[in-house]
Amino acid sequence: MIETFFDICPELLELDKKAMELCKPEFEKIHAIQEYNQVKMLKAFTECGVSSTHLVGSTGYGYDDSGRDKLDQVFATVMGAEDALCRSHFLSGTHALTVALFGLLRMGDTLLAATGRPYDTLEGVIGLGDTKEQGYGSLAEYGVNYDEAPLTEEGQPDYELIAQKAPHATVCHIQRSRGYSNRSAFDLKTIEKVIQTAKTANPNIVVMVDNCYGEFTQIAEPTSVGADLIVGSLIKNPGGGIAPTGGYIAGKHSLVEKCAHRLTCPGTGRELGCTLDTLRQMYLGLYYAPGVTAEALKTSIYASCLFELMGYHATPFYKEDRNDIITSIETKSEKALCALCQGIQAGSPVDSFVTPEPYAMPGYTDQVIMAAGAFTLGSSIELSCDAPVRPPYTAYLQGGLNFAASRAGVLLGVQKAFFA
Ligand SMILES: *Cc1c(COP(=O)(O)O)cnc(C)c1O
Repeated sequence: MIETFFDICPELLELDKKAMELCKPEFEKIHAIQEYNQVKMLKAFTECGVSSTHLVGSTGYGYDDSGRDKLDQVFATVMGAEDALCRSHFLSGTHALTVALFGLLRMGDTLLAATGRPYDTLEGVIGLGDTKEQGYGSLAEYGVNYDEAPLTEEGQPDYELIAQKAPHATVCHIQRSRGYSNRSAFDLKTIEKVIQTAKTANPNIVVMVDNCYGEFTQIAEPTSVGADLIVGSLIKNPGGGIAPTGGYIAGKHSLVEKCAHRLTCPGTGRELGCTLDTLRQMYLGLYYAPGVTAEALKTSIYASCLFELMGYHATPFYKEDRNDIITSIETKSEKALCALCQGIQAGSPVDSFVTPEPYAMPGYTDQVIMAAGAFTLGSSIELSCDAPVRPPYTAYLQGGLNFAASRAGVLLGVQKAFFA
């Protein structure tokens, strides 16, 4: 059917057919998760009594913005958390993580990264390496110490080391998704074991999980296995491709309160912050998020399978349990990598006529190439593919608002890269 609209060569169509058949049982598992999470979502909306008046935003200080406060409540409910801040005022996932870290940590405290080095953009926030003396007000400049338990050679948490280091730490940081590292996302069992290890060694430790890309990939969130706080971005899974911006912090009420006073001003907290015209999209996006995440998961599984059939190494393996929406593919050459990104761009709903090229980006050592034909700038719940241009030329593919279109996008990328 795709060939009715796009010119795909017969050999590739044959592989596509095979991949679709192999993926069938995997898709069934995804549908079951989607259905569970969607009904859980509906239940949260009804239980919280969302009304049409909540969809209208406020201006100015945003006092008595009942739509904003109701959204916090719905978000907390669906995440199985006591409390939440689900807001357009977070400008990215990194910003939400920053607010959480500065909300929780004080001078002399220690942050323990229990799953190895955190996501790249947090280095400047923590004050690692060169960023320590920048004068931008990192945690290090505020006298907050940093400690790390690197992952083992197998890419697993080092439980012994975590137990050793936890007693000296105030906050334990866990990253669920792989980021740009070469491991799979951690499942909830593993996260639970890290949390139990840290809390057994130090009952007072606060555990915060970077939940970016993990939301709604399973039927539960890290809050259900003992995480005190979870943090993420609304231009990834929980915004459903509809929220135009924003992020969230959810978890224990007392901790969420601390973060609220850091998000706005100490002493002001969550009472302020107008929502302008964002609320309807935030509610709608959240409501759609379980379905959209499922579409992205199907795209990930399908792509992994297709590349496997072509003899390229893709992770996670298509039959593997998914805990984030990222697939990495070793394309083996710069030419194939660039062509893959260009083909995916050509199969995007926005800016399909643009040809992405590698370029130097601040904060990266190698040139980077990026396919991102998205409705929301930088959104990675929409089909996107990016990569640092270096051996083994690994492409990171993520997102897909709906599988039918994303499958076509992947096929166009693969054709340009390997069947041209
Ligand atoms: C995306 C992401 C972040 C935050 O990134 P932003 O681009 O600032 O939204 C943090 N951690 C992980 C693991 C991520 O995937």
